[in-house]
Amino acid sequence: MEKILIVDDSAVQAAQLKAILAEEYDITIAQTAEDGLRRASRENYSLILLDVVMPGMDGFTLLKKLQEEIITQSIPVILITSLSDVQSEQRGLVLGAVDYITKPFHSPIVKARVDTHIKLYNYRRQVEEQSMTDQLTGIANRRRYERYSITKWHEAARLQIPFSICMFDIDHFKIFNDTFGHPAGDKVITAVAKTISSHLHRSTDFFARYGGEEFVALFWGDPSDKVFAYLKKIRQAVEDLHIPHAPSVSKWVTVSVGGVTAIPHAESSYSFYLKIADTMLYDAKRNGRNMVVWADEHMLQLWEKDIQSDLK
Ligand code: GH3
Ligand code: MG
Ligand code: MG
Repeated sequence: MEKILIVDDSAVQAAQLKAILAEEYDITIAQTAEDGLRRASRENYSLILLDVVMPGMDGFTLLKKLQEEIITQSIPVILITSLSDVQSEQRGLVLGAVDYITKPFHSPIVKARVDTHIKLYNYRRQVEEQSMTDQLTGIANRRRYERYSITKWHEAARLQIPFSICMFDIDHFKIFNDTFGHPAGDKVITAVAKTISSHLHRSTDFFARYGGEEFVALFWGDPSDKVFAYLKKIRQAVEDLHIPHAPSVSKWVTVSVGGVTAIPHAESSYSFYLKIADTMLYDAKRNGRNMVVWADEHMLQLWEKDIQSDLK
């Protein structure tokens, strides 16, 4: 059942609205704007019915606050105004309300408006979801990554939590495509994405297709050595899929992995650290591929395989 929040200081009016909608929706009532704001940011509502005139914080102020918060700004808000109050309607719509309902209520109209806005909201969510998902693999796409990374980076800076950026790139994939064809290549990309995904269990783990045969992962909270150890396991899991590669290249399809763990500061730039992750990936490629190269919080490199000593 879809959840609707009614914010109204009048218990009678709230009960009337609830009676109209309760058959099809899961209704919560908040009697003050403060309580409404608290509930809206904690629960997933598909719609908010908001009374304009309330003692203390009024409906307009609450509407503004809802619009300012990332987690509540996309919830549609329908204002409850009295029939005579055209100015309130206008002000509410300008502030971002999707519609208004006038008192006294005419039940079929209330129900129809609510149904319409919930339908539109679900449609919009579905489109947004699709636009953030990679069609081939079903994992997050670059767009979702761009949004998520910056938000999480700032959050990690605020909380002073270690943050890891990790890049994966399938080895010699051009040769794989040239040998087995593009459709076979697509299957490999999907299989690799699935294997890496299956190792990321925490709600704070993030994984996306960065583009082509490249992936990006973000981790929270763990120190570099722990993340490094875990990525070695993931890299091995991809190798253990035993997908035959072009014989001129290697026995199995493999990935190279590069990344960095750091505790960001308020002024640290995300793109700077992304570049470090990229450099680590480049080093993994340069030194034979199928390995993890990591930078720790002191920017010292951790190598999975000790080949680089010949090169330095
Ligand atoms: P390296 O080990 O240095 O990463 O070599 P590489 O051949 O993997 O790297 P390069 O960047 O030269 O080539 C990437 C190839 O990935 C090119 C392209 O054929 C292939 N590729 C990119 N996107 C897709 C895709 O969506 N499907 C398939 N099948 N292949 C793709
Ligand atoms: Mg590449
Ligand atoms: Mg590659």
